[in-house]
Amino acid sequence: MDRLVPRMRQHAASIFGEMSVLATQMGAINLGQGFPDTDGPQILKDAAIAAIVDGRGNQYPPVHGLPLLREAVSTHQQRFYALSIDPDTDVVIGTGASEIIAAALLAFVDTDDEVIIFEPWFDVYDAGISLARGRRVAVPLLPPTFRPDVDALRAAVTPRTKVLLINSPHNPTGTVFTIEELQTIADIAIEHNLIVISDEAYEHLWYTGHPHIPISTLPGMFERTVTIGSGGKCFSFTGWKVGWASGPRELIAAVRVVRQHLSFVSGGPLQWAIAAGLDLPNSYFADFRADLESKRDILTSGLREVGLEVVPSQGTYFVMTDVRSLGFDDGMQFCREAAERARVVAIPVAALCADPQIGRTYVRWAFCKQPSVLREATAQLATAFA
Ligand SMILES: *Cc1c(COP(=O)(O)O)cnc(C)c1O
Repeated sequence: MDRLVPRMRQHAASIFGEMSVLATQMGAINLGQGFPDTDGPQILKDAAIAAIVDGRGNQYPPVHGLPLLREAVSTHQQRFYALSIDPDTDVVIGTGASEIIAAALLAFVDTDDEVIIFEPWFDVYDAGISLARGRRVAVPLLPPTFRPDVDALRAAVTPRTKVLLINSPHNPTGTVFTIEELQTIADIAIEHNLIVISDEAYEHLWYTGHPHIPISTLPGMFERTVTIGSGGKCFSFTGWKVGWASGPRELIAAVRVVRQHLSFVSGGPLQWAIAAGLDLPNSYFADFRADLESKRDILTSGLREVGLEVVPSQGTYFVMTDVRSLGFDDGMQFCREAAERARVVAIPVAALCADPQIGRTYVRWAFCKQPSVLREATAQLATAFA
C-alpha cells in the first residue's frame, strides 16, 4: 500500500467484499451483500435491449443525462412528493447513486471541511469524505432502537461544518426517520446554513406505518438539499448503476461540474430503461414494497426463532440483530462462526462505525432474497446455534 495516498489506506478493505469472499469459500448463503436474487420488471429489460438494437442507446448520451430520463426523474418527484423539478437544470444522472454521492462530496467539501454523517453508515460516505480531503464527524444512531441522536447532532456542528449527509430509509439499521426527526435535522441545517445531501436510495422500500418523507419537502429545505436516488434499488437491477440527484439548480450545477469529470456519462441503454421504470404506475411501487415487506417478515420471524433479538426494520433491504441474545459479545466473531457452523454470511455492523461500541454486538442481514433462501438460511442457523 506504499503507493496509495495515505488518506485512502484506511479504506483499503471493504467489509462487503470480505464477507462475500468468506461466503464463497464456505459455500454459504450470502445474506451479507444487499442485492436481490430475482430480477426487476421485464419491461425495463426490453427497454434496454430495444435501445441497443435500434441504436438509440449506443453512443454517449448527453453529459448530464438522457433528457427522457431527466424528465422521468422530474415527473417522479412531482408524482410522489409534489416537488417541482426542472428537468433541464435541476437533475443530474450518474453511474449509480454512489457516483453522485462522491461527486456531491467533491463538489461541496474542501480540505478540512467537516461532514456530519450518522453511524453506522453506508461505506461510500466515509471514503468519499476522504477523497474530498474533508473530515468525517460521526453522530450516532443510538442502540438499541437506532434513532438519530439529535442532541449529539446539534453538538457536532462547528464553524467548519459544511455538509450534513443523511440516509433514510437507512442502511444498515432499517430506520426510517420520522417527520419530527427530519424537522429537527432541518432546523439544525437551516440554523447553520448547511448543505444537506439526502441519500434516498431506498425511497420506495419503506414498510407499513413508516412512510418515507424526503427532507427536501420540509419548509426551507429544498434550496439546501441534494436528493439522491438509485435505479438499481428502485427496480432490482443493482448491476445497472444508474442513479440521479435532484434539487435546486445552484447545487445541481455544482454536482454536474464534478460528476462530468468522473464517468462523463453512465450507460446509455440503461438510462432508457430506467426512464421506463420511473414511468411505471403506482401499483408497481406498491407491489414492490409489499414483496420486500413480506420478505422482511419471513427473515425477522426466522431470526427470532433462532433466538436472535431483532431490531425491527422499517425500510431498506436489511434487518439487524443483537448477537448477545445467542451468548456472543462481538458481531465479527458471530459472523465468522455463522459462516463456518451455519454456512450463512451476515455483515458485522461495527465495521460501519467510528465508535466500535455502537455496532459491536449487531449484525446486518439482507432479506432481498427468495423466501425459500431466507427459510433455508434461518433453518441452518437454528441447527448450528441450537
Ligand atoms: C446501494 C446504496 C447506494 C448505491 O446505489 P447505486 O445506485 O448502486 O450506486 C447508495 N446508498 C445506499 C444507502 C445504498 O444502500
